[in-house]
Amino acid sequence: MTHADQGLTHAERAAKFCQDEARVDWHSKALWMLREKRDRAAGSLPEWEQLRTLGSEIKLHTLSNLGQYLEEFEKNCLANGIQVHWAKDGHEHNQIVHGILAKHQVKKLVKSKSMLTEECHLNPYLEERGIEVIDTDLGERIIQLKKQPPSHIVVPAIHLKKEEVGELFHEKLGTEKGASDPTYLTRAARAHLREQFLSADAAMTGVNMAIADQGAVVVCTNEGNADMGANLPKLQLHSMGIDKVLPDLASSGVLLRTLARNATGQPITTYSSFYRGPQENGEMHVIIVDNGRSDMLKDKILAESLKCIRCGGCLNTCPVYRRSGGFSYNYTIPGPIGIAVGAQHDDTNSIPWACTLCGSCSFVCPTKVPLDKIIHHHRRLKAEAGTLPYGKSSYMPLVGKLMASETLLNASMGIARTSLRILPHSLLKPFSGAWGKYRELPVAPESSFERWYKNNRS
Ligand code: SF4
Repeated sequence: MTHADQGLTHAERAAKFCQDEARVDWHSKALWMLREKRDRAAGSLPEWEQLRTLGSEIKLHTLSNLGQYLEEFEKNCLANGIQVHWAKDGHEHNQIVHGILAKHQVKKLVKSKSMLTEECHLNPYLEERGIEVIDTDLGERIIQLKKQPPSHIVVPAIHLKKEEVGELFHEKLGTEKGASDPTYLTRAARAHLREQFLSADAAMTGVNMAIADQGAVVVCTNEGNADMGANLPKLQLHSMGIDKVLPDLASSGVLLRTLARNATGQPITTYSSFYRGPQENGEMHVIIVDNGRSDMLKDKILAESLKCIRCGGCLNTCPVYRRSGGFSYNYTIPGPIGIAVGAQHDDTNSIPWACTLCGSCSFVCPTKVPLDKIIHHHRRLKAEAGTLPYGKSSYMPLVGKLMASETLLNASMGIARTSLRILPHSLLKPFSGAWGKYRELPVAPESSFERWYKNNRS
């Protein structure tokens, strides 16, 4: 994504990604492989559907009593020696983080697994104030070196091929030119990151779950980088959205069983670490961020998007995301969940239409977020606010009238069938708009479906 992409609609950004057909195929296949692994992992648990129902109910219950659980969480954190901060938005979050780091004269911060800090644009904020920020998850480090945002919430560098990573590492880390062997590159990255961990003054991570009755936060990673970070320097910070809180350990157990299975097909993430207090002579801070979440709670339909546990499963299955790439969404979080939580921030008013409403995302979601329903709701909200994308506001009411009238619809379908039969397709193609850009026009059927149905089924 470049600055030139600012202000472009989803379709315009997607068109750029689609120029490289080979990349689109490979991207789609890589994500579908994750979806297949997810299916195998889910299918191996006979109680999978019960876990989904339970996960959904736990999240709904917590969101319905959010104030009470957040207060309980804060009280127990304080009792454990954890310092708790509240931020109403991204800017306040960044100020708080900077205040803590400045107090400790931190020059280098190692950071891991936090889409929330992306949402708050923390890295540029700290860098402008002289603090070096090193993202330590391998995928996150790759895109940080490439100066790109994440294109996926679980596999942030999924849009890059291993040859491109090899080229980048050669340039930035001095690996051999032309080397693209993943094991070699991973080892080089590990050695580079070790140096960063050892020289950092503070560590920061995201939070997968916050457990109210324990005053503890849970951080899930596969590389152990969050733990390396949090255990080496004496100062550790954890940023969480208000929606991450859960009542107790048992409820975290339910979500831990579904999180990794739905993300990568693993039974559980390699490291699922519970932090319940600072190191000896150290400090642990938790920053709890609202940033528009309590506004979403006011709308019954949008509120359900806060049940999300950020497994990424809905991105992997989405036919639009797989073929348009993560940078086509005008929001930090891409894919169906990105539309659900980001459509109100999308000034191009285009991302709610980056969806076929096929419902595959809702079908795979481990906490039953009704993504297709939420996305449809966003379209309605855009229409009511008078911010429909260009064209839709003018021609869709006419299409609606046409579809509502049996006579008009039958007559126009008759004209379309006859035109398809007698006129050259080169003449008709321009009328098919974006639909016809990558498709041939269909062969006209002999008669209408209605007539076929009358003859064969009635
Ligand atoms: S909406 Fe559901 S499937 Fe999508 S990332 Fe969140 S939990 Fe996973």
